[in-house]
Amino acid sequence: MVTFEELGLSDQILKVLSELGFEKPTEIQERAIPELMSGDVDMIGLAQTGTGKTAAFGLPLLDRIDPKEKFTQGLILAPTRELGKQIAEQLAIFSKYLERVNVLAVYGGAPIHLQIKDLRRTQHVIIATPGRLIDLIKRKAVHLDQLKFLILDEADEMLNMGFKDELDKILSYTPEDKQTWLFSATMAAPIKKIVRKYMDNPVEVKVNSKNEVNVDIEHQFTTVRQRDKAEALTRFLDIHSGTRGVVFCRTKRDTQNLAEVLVRKNYKADALHGDLSQFQRDRVMKRFKANDINVLIATDVAARGIDVSDLSHVFHYDLPDDNAYYTHRSGRTGRAGKKGISISFLNVSETYRIKRLERELGIRFNKVSIPSTADIAESRLEGWCIDTLQQKTNGRVDEELLEKISLIFGNLSKEELIAKVVVSELEKLDLGGNRDLNDNSPPRRGADRRHGGGRRDYRGGGGGRRFSRGGGRDSRGGGRDSRGGGRDSRDSRDGGRRSSSYNRNRY
Ligand code: AMP
Repeated sequence: MVTFEELGLSDQILKVLSELGFEKPTEIQERAIPELMSGDVDMIGLAQTGTGKTAAFGLPLLDRIDPKEKFTQGLILAPTRELGKQIAEQLAIFSKYLERVNVLAVYGGAPIHLQIKDLRRTQHVIIATPGRLIDLIKRKAVHLDQLKFLILDEADEMLNMGFKDELDKILSYTPEDKQTWLFSATMAAPIKKIVRKYMDNPVEVKVNSKNEVNVDIEHQFTTVRQRDKAEALTRFLDIHSGTRGVVFCRTKRDTQNLAEVLVRKNYKADALHGDLSQFQRDRVMKRFKANDINVLIATDVAARGIDVSDLSHVFHYDLPDDNAYYTHRSGRTGRAGKKGISISFLNVSETYRIKRLERELGIRFNKVSIPSTADIAESRLEGWCIDTLQQKTNGRVDEELLEKISLIFGNLSKEELIAKVVVSELEKLDLGGNRDLNDNSPPRRGADRRHGGGRRDYRGGGGGRRFSRGGGRDSRGGGRDSRGGGRDSRDSRDGGRRSSSYNRNRY
């Protein structure tokens, strides 16, 4: 087995990879990183999202930046702002121990004057969507004349979206002697043209497996009405012991509301969203890392930079608009050799999206049902039984007291005694109503019917002993774009549709 240490990366990068729980390189990383670290090379990487391609080019890029040189050395072009943001997020984490390497993402739909302001200081690596980059070059906010590394990510997607002219233009601003690393899912004819025109004898690395990094993640989904989602979540939290997870919501307000509901019900939860000050964010993360809270409720953007590696669950309270975010969210579990569960809460009308995710990301989903209160009671009692069995008694109870109690229970059979103990434990449980929260109404037109039958038990993959709301058996824990009228409407994959769903309350 090849290790990251053998790929020629610096100690600072190796340190962060070990903190992230990246145990071994994926295929594209194993094959691309040594080439990209070795010197002057152009490369074609045929790989998709989910193969670890961002790290495959991002790690060598960061390691080869010279922070002492005060100009832009690396440019990553991405077709959409979502992808651009994700790349920036990953690079920010990877560069944690590298001294003063500045990375900035610029994309359409965000105020250009703020980006111009950020560009006044040296940005060693710029991640950009093509339209916005050209705007910034024209305004002389970006200078590419000393560029050393140009990365075209999802190049096929950029061409599909009609960015050919923009690519030609951007490339005309870059020096001849730079290295070009092109990543694409396919090698269609227009890509071959780009390669012939702009690349010099490139090394080709092709990987087949789509979701290599996600092999330890079990993808599940459940159908539930919007109004029942919070209760469904608590049932999943109740049924699995030792759950430590991130719940992804769409808006800041959703994260806040959900956190309040959970805290009211005595779960150890808190929200992480864009309205929090740095101090508040740090405090939430500190509590999460210290296990003082075990459920973090976050928006996609706020969850950037969460570098925790031991999550048992990722909950998609709402599915992200962009499928690539799904990979990114779920990639936070199933790390460091541990199994993880990524579970999506869907309205019945959204089930068609599962098929799309399966197709685009090369993963399989299992449908699971929301545990009933009877399931939870059973699992909690099982847990209680195991705890009881493991209790050490030797010399811990006064002999006289034991004799007295034995006399009191003297006439009861073992069965009668067990029944009484179980009833009294059940009475201690506070499981709320026992409504069936599964929404089994027929999918509406366009929804995927294929999964209707093969429903799996929620316990699939959970394994082991379940339930603990906040630690001990009954201890309930305490603490307790708008697109802005930009010229280039393609800078965001869904253009107009997205503009209505991105509102001020978002992130
Ligand atoms: P990508 O294919 O670059 O979009 O990466 C998908 C996800 O896999 C991201 O969340 C990465 O952080 C994660 N990832 C990348 N490389 C590895 C690795 N070697 N081991 C575990 N996770 C990884």
